[in-house]
Amino acid sequence: MLNLVLFGPPGAGKGTQATYLAKAYQLIHLSTGEILREQIAAGTEIGLLVKDTIQRGELVPDATVIDLIQDKLDKNPEAKGFLFDGFPRTVPQAEALDVLLVHYGRSVSAMLSLEVEKKELMARLMSRGTTSGRIDDADLAVIENRIQVYNDKTAPLIQYYSKAGKYEAINGVGTVQEITDRLRFYIDKLPLNKKSR
Ligand code: ADP
Repeated sequence: MLNLVLFGPPGAGKGTQATYLAKAYQLIHLSTGEILREQIAAGTEIGLLVKDTIQRGELVPDATVIDLIQDKLDKNPEAKGFLFDGFPRTVPQAEALDVLLVHYGRSVSAMLSLEVEKKELMARLMSRGTTSGRIDDADLAVIENRIQVYNDKTAPLIQYYSKAGKYEAINGVGTVQEITDRLRFYIDKLPLNKKSR
């Protein structure tokens, strides 16, 4: 069984690829960004709490996203596997995910990291900002901040998953189809042994 972490800086293309991969491998797609935006749109208590943080391009508290993920794992006990998108984003989140998955008799099979250089990320996010309607895509300073937050707090996860032998770097520049093919190449090589169930 597959439990994949799709990783990369803002604008790397995680969401686009995640939608496709979840379908192809019958995985439940869990995007914490999407879940948080749903909470904001629905005007829930969590939504109200996180709105300003997201608007500034900062990370919402670890406990908030860990609770949201736990809830999804609880609600999907029969899932064939999960595709985590935008989560984990800090070392404490990665540690919490490992503990949670053990509880459900699962583990992270691999962390697939989409690599795209900053100039290209900025261009993609600015262009997305004209159509996405996302509060955090509209402002150059916020986009810069999200990339900075990624470098400071999220990039250390590369070390975390490297140590566990689960890190795979994938070139995130090319057509959507080319990048999908690169991801599938790695996923299809993963041993579907008991450990990654
Ligand atoms: P992107 O990858 O383009 O930044 P996301 O949808 O993954 O888009 O995230 C949007 C915002 O939601 C982040 O900037 C952050 O404020 C919040 N967020 C999403 N996932 C997490 C997480 N795992 N931990 C903390 N904050 C998160």
